[in-house]
Amino acid sequence: LFNAVEMAPRDPILGLTEQYVADPNPRKVNLGVGVYYDDNGKLPLLQCVQKAEEKMMAAHAARGYLPIDGIAAYDAAIKNLVFGADSEPVKAGRVATVQALGGTGGLKIGADFLHKLDPAAKVLISDPSWENHRGIFRDAGFTVETYPYYDAERKGINMDGMLTALSTAEAGTVVVLHACCHNPTGYDLTPAQWDQVVAAVQSRKLVAFLDMAYQGFAQGIAEDGIAVQKFLASGLDFFVSTSFSKSLSLYGERVGALSVLCQSAEEAGRVLSQLKIVIRTNYSNPPTHGGQVAATILNTPELRALWEQELAAMRVRIKQMRTAIVEKLKAAGVQRDFSFIAHQVGMFSYSGLTKDQMVRLRNEFGVYGIDSGRICVAALNSKNIDYVAECIAKVV
Ligand code: PMP
Repeated sequence: LFNAVEMAPRDPILGLTEQYVADPNPRKVNLGVGVYYDDNGKLPLLQCVQKAEEKMMAAHAARGYLPIDGIAAYDAAIKNLVFGADSEPVKAGRVATVQALGGTGGLKIGADFLHKLDPAAKVLISDPSWENHRGIFRDAGFTVETYPYYDAERKGINMDGMLTALSTAEAGTVVVLHACCHNPTGYDLTPAQWDQVVAAVQSRKLVAFLDMAYQGFAQGIAEDGIAVQKFLASGLDFFVSTSFSKSLSLYGERVGALSVLCQSAEEAGRVLSQLKIVIRTNYSNPPTHGGQVAATILNTPELRALWEQELAAMRVRIKQMRTAIVEKLKAAGVQRDFSFIAHQVGMFSYSGLTKDQMVRLRNEFGVYGIDSGRICVAALNSKNIDYVAECIAKVV
């Protein structure tokens, strides 16, 4: 049966972590990861999560099946968080939201539903993008292509290229957009650039799918929702996937959602019924714990306030690391201008380092980043940053 099964390529990022773990260098640093570590290099367990869990454990709730679309209070909290509690679509009931297995799960439910609606549609992802975007939409049956995004020479966004690609795409093309904290580049569109993207999507009758995996990591919860607000104002139908992996540091609990903005409550009811079929035939219904933690935090004012403080602390620490690495590279005598790292946002930086330089960093110094030059700024801390700056200085 399995004679002809080929060995699939290893996940490049997970492979890197294995290499890091096996490295005997006592000064090794893993900047290849996609997670936030605190200043002690530890994955945080947020206070708001601990308090929510204490509340939940005290209630000793039984673990029945959840509804197919998840915990109702969780889905309601997602709508308020993503679109705004007082927003017209939420009040009018024209958002269909389902609990999902992380942001990945939200993307997959959306991809499967979209493929049923229009199997011939193309999907465009940014060049470069989080690599799983390609895999998720390809394995849902779509042809996946890219739109230009990163401008390596100017260290920013290739806006002309992006707009040209969108304005020549066929009607019905699904466009996957990073709502904030673009992974891997760290460059986000400005509000004025979002206006241009929304206009292109609208005039070409494209379908926008906003991936919101890092809400709160760039400027703040509300500020990072700018793309959603722009699409709301346009009156278009669109998709938003949400992840709490980073913002609640709940990676392994798989807490996310998919929201679909529809034209009416009646339409949202029909869309929801179809999303439920996708879920039912894949994994039946979501797990209880992580969704309940998130719902408890979002729906309890003190815990929500505590979360906002803790999220702000993560955001501020990343920004400090960005400024610090720029300064330390300068202090280490590096001539090249790395100030762009301080202007990028989110957990990652496209550092501009070449593949050869990344390989040298890894092999000679035990500093692990991705060959594309992507480093996780959220894995820098006050103990490893001097060493990282020294090593980068040696390879550039
Ligand atoms: N989208 C992007 C852009 C991401 O970077 C990630 C996580 N690395 C995800 C989605 C998926 O998040 P989750 O772990 O919640 O599935």
